[in-house]
Amino acid sequence: MTAGAHGRRDRSGDEDLGGRLNQLRAGVLGANDGIVSTAGIVIGMAAATTRVPVILAAGLAGLAAGALSMASGEYVSVSTQRDTERALLEAEREQLARDPDAALDELTHEYVGKGLSESLARQVATELSAGDALAAHADAELHLDPDELTNPWQAAFASIVSFTIGGMLPLLAIILCPVEVRIPVTFGAVVLALVLTGWVSARLGHAPPGRATVRTVIGGALAMVTTYVLGRAFNV
Ligand SMILES: [Zn+2]
Repeated sequence: MTAGAHGRRDRSGDEDLGGRLNQLRAGVLGANDGIVSTAGIVIGMAAATTRVPVILAAGLAGLAAGALSMASGEYVSVSTQRDTERALLEAEREQLARDPDAALDELTHEYVGKGLSESLARQVATELSAGDALAAHADAELHLDPDELTNPWQAAFASIVSFTIGGMLPLLAIILCPVEVRIPVTFGAVVLALVLTGWVSARLGHAPPGRATVRTVIGGALAMVTTYVLGRAFNV
């Protein structure tokens, strides 16, 4: 998952939908990582040996290591982001307690910046502050919902799941195929899967999908060709 997918949301339905699409896109990118790294390992191994248990052991070890590495990276990144968000919320809470008038001026200024007139902005800020003042400041100034900070465990678990789903594809392709066609079939299955992940993640990110798909496929193909050449070098 990408760090940009977390933490930023609003109470409106559109923003919630945007958040879910971001999470979906992060999942597709995680699957993409799982596909490419596992494909590289099993194709490299299949180039070096025809023994299925050896290929399977290497593929599973690579899949587990990759999924856990991605999950711990995600855990650290989301935890750090959540610490930052909590510190910012704490600063807002302190300011509200210490100097509510200055806080109200600040919130008014935010709404003037968004295009409201001075008097309407003051009225909006005053009414919002009469309710949950901290939530109003967090929303307008930090684009955060204090009750909806991203959970690092959830992010880590999501990376494990998406990476594993992606990695299973080349692993199954290589161990289920007969030895003569093992490498080309796996290569082809991975290219097709990368066309799908490249296309879907570009569409979810509102990018033109053609170029993104070509880049994704070229990246994966380079990884597989590289490990194939390395594996051949050890084939005796
Ligand atoms: Zn404030």
